[in-house]
Amino acid sequence: MSDEAMGMKQLVVLSGKGGTGKTTVTAALAHLASQELSVIMADADVDASNLELVLDPVRQEEHDFMGGQIAIIDPARCTACGACEAVCRFDAVHRPSETPSTYAYRVDPLACEGCASCFYQCPEDAIRMEEQQAGRWFRSTTRFGMLFHAHLFAGQENSGKLVTLVKQQARLLGLDTGAELVLVDGPPGIGCPVISASAGADMALLVVEPTVSGVHDLERVLGTTDHFGVPALVAINKADLNPARSEEIVAFCARRSIAVVGRIPYDTAVTEAMVQGQPVTAVTAGAVTEALRETWTRIKEHLLNSLQ
Ligand code: SF4
Ligand code: SF4
Repeated sequence: MSDEAMGMKQLVVLSGKGGTGKTTVTAALAHLASQELSVIMADADVDASNLELVLDPVRQEEHDFMGGQIAIIDPARCTACGACEAVCRFDAVHRPSETPSTYAYRVDPLACEGCASCFYQCPEDAIRMEEQQAGRWFRSTTRFGMLFHAHLFAGQENSGKLVTLVKQQARLLGLDTGAELVLVDGPPGIGCPVISASAGADMALLVVEPTVSGVHDLERVLGTTDHFGVPALVAINKADLNPARSEEIVAFCARRSIAVVGRIPYDTAVTEAMVQGQPVTAVTAGAVTEALRETWTRIKEHLLNSLQ
């Protein structure tokens, strides 16, 4: 698209809660956008990276993701003075058993926040701080472009940092290769990882369903995008399942001057496509694909207009 080249734009797809079809929409946008632009994708839902189920990535690179530090006590040096337990505000240090051979304090790695207070307090130099591997991140090829994705290990809490890393990698490759679009599948809900996914985006697509909590979910996620000054667009998924609720969402968006760029109908083809590991737009030309094509066209217009 030489005469209307966008420069590199970053679009993040978000939803106020899980299960709204966000990843279905992202996969369809990846498919449609890649027919016109060079696209790089980032799966920022590092707690449950579902985009890879649809994009069938082939891993080219794998890397460790190091999370925060935790304290480790050397039992050979510990004299069980208890200073570390006294100073730990997170109840992460446990008293030793009475068996002499194991008479040393120990740290519960899941409770340790890595504050290092115990490290500075220990008179015997028995405590060291060690970085923990908190997950893995990957650079993979897909039929629609390069995908950066990651898995955070269970019980790890550094998802915001991992989201930032995955996005940075996508952006760097985009800059190196002259990509036109970085498409980010954001985490559901609100909170730290959503903040990380939204930061630096040129535009956010908020996917919402016409449920009782639809407007409320939308308001919650708008709190984040507004905070970062990221312009938001809205797509209503399964819009025909509850026309009255859909109209409520449309009216809410009108009051907030937010463009509704898509009303995507419910279609069992979406699930069938998922099972086949395909974006729905790649397997059917029906109404749902038509609606997603229209959605992409409108998003593109908004991205282009945001340049002016
Ligand atoms: S402060 Fe050091 S020596 Fe004292 S109980 Fe803790 S680890 Fe052991
Ligand atoms: S590093 Fe902080 S949280 Fe972890 S055991 Fe030591 S004092 Fe407790």
